[in-house]
Amino acid sequence: MRLRFSDPIWQKPRTATAFQSLFPAGRRVDVVIVGGGIMGLSTALHAARLGLAVQVVDAGEIGNGASGLNGGQVIPGLKYDPDWLLEHFGPERGEALVNFAASTADTVFELIRDEGLAVPFVRNGWIQAAHTETALKAAANRDRQWRARGADVRLLSATEIATMTGAQGYLGGWLDRRAGVIDPLAYTSELARVAAAAGVKIAERQNVMQISKDAGIWHVSAESGAELKAKVVVLATNACTGGLLPGLAETIVPLHSFQIATAPLSSNLAAEILPEGQAVSDSRRILVYYRKSADGRLVLGGRGRMALPNGPADWAHLERALLRLYPALSDIAIEKRWFGRVAMTPDHLPHIHEPEKGLLAVVGCQGRGIGLMTALGERIASYLSSGDTRQLPFPISPIRPIPFHAFRQVGVAATIAWYRMLDAFER
Ligand SMILES: Cc1cc2nc3c(=O)[nH]c(=O)nc-3n(C[C@H](O)[C@H](O)[C@H](O)COP(=O)(O)OP(=O)(O)OC[C@H]3O[C@@H](n4cnc5c(N)ncnc54)[C@H](O)[C@@H]3O)c2cc1C
Repeated sequence: MRLRFSDPIWQKPRTATAFQSLFPAGRRVDVVIVGGGIMGLSTALHAARLGLAVQVVDAGEIGNGASGLNGGQVIPGLKYDPDWLLEHFGPERGEALVNFAASTADTVFELIRDEGLAVPFVRNGWIQAAHTETALKAAANRDRQWRARGADVRLLSATEIATMTGAQGYLGGWLDRRAGVIDPLAYTSELARVAAAAGVKIAERQNVMQISKDAGIWHVSAESGAELKAKVVVLATNACTGGLLPGLAETIVPLHSFQIATAPLSSNLAAEILPEGQAVSDSRRILVYYRKSADGRLVLGGRGRMALPNGPADWAHLERALLRLYPALSDIAIEKRWFGRVAMTPDHLPHIHEPEKGLLAVVGCQGRGIGLMTALGERIASYLSSGDTRQLPFPISPIRPIPFHAFRQVGVAATIAWYRMLDAFER
């Protein structure tokens, strides 16, 4: 789905493959995966490598979801730091979860290397930039916990962060060298290419309308009339989750993330702004995140309005944020504006559901899904192959719709407005 006022920077090469491959009608396959984003494709690739017959179907083209639209920041970890995870999940599961969280960026970069994916990337770290003393303290706490585990991380002084970002207004920050940046559409397309090469059938433009069970076999029906039969169905629809599984859409709050990209920077500006190519997120309540693209543009994103955008003015808050950080960019053209949907859960963790045997759903990327969903897909594939729940980093949980879900969007919009005001006071 390409909306009129959404013009992403990431483009598929004209020669990109279209995927129209379905198993013969009537054949029962091991796994049908609904959703061909990073989650669905990583699960499919790894499941095929484990010997399973896998069909992926997507309502649109591969990369039309968040996976092909995102900021391309590959950041390990979860919202929570190691101590919190240990406290809440106990020593055994907590430790496994910390190790999983630590490994998610490695999983992406190892996949790029081992599978020979044609994906532009820079692996030089992610900076969490602090603009208040409170944020600096949080960074020091995070640094202590990850350093104790041998992670390649360190605190940055105000001078260091100014040199590394070229941006104004930070008191210091935290550098996580495990992270990096990629072209997310190239990554998603390349995942599809290698999954297909590994035997996965992938069919685009197959909008799944119904999933039912008959005599222990799952039936997946698409709007096109295609009918698929499978032992297992995996819903990897994330923020696009509709009514396929009762209650599932009500377990997440879909939010819009908006992005802008400047014209390519001049060589002088490129030498001052992120000269080493790190990704950055700042510490504001309504944070902005930014990086340089392979063709030398500055790409900056942040939360956007919940209604569909009407025109360039709906990205104006990001242009203001850009100039606050980089006044020298006052004359630069903003050449691209686009947005996509992220799925948040109330506990800020991804959820794995299996409401009936052979029917799995994975939702809740929390806006950090490149590493998370790639690594989780690998684990889901191991679970599908072995049936061993110990393969899963997160416990399987019941589908629990958020109370008053229909009113949640109003609450989110009000909270965003309030946080923006608090952020403005802290400038
Ligand atoms: C603007 C933006 C910026 C982001 N920036 C970052 C970032 O810098 N770093 C990071 O790690 N993460 C980022 N994210 C989050 C990241 O993109 C997601 O976590 C990740 O892509 C989720 O992958 P997914 O496969 O679960 O979902 P998606 O990529 O959304 O895939 C879901 C797929 O399901 C399909 N689908 C839905 N319903 C049906 C149906 N009924 N039948 C068939 N198909 C169906 C959709 O067409 C879609 O292709 C960002 C997200 C956005 C939107």
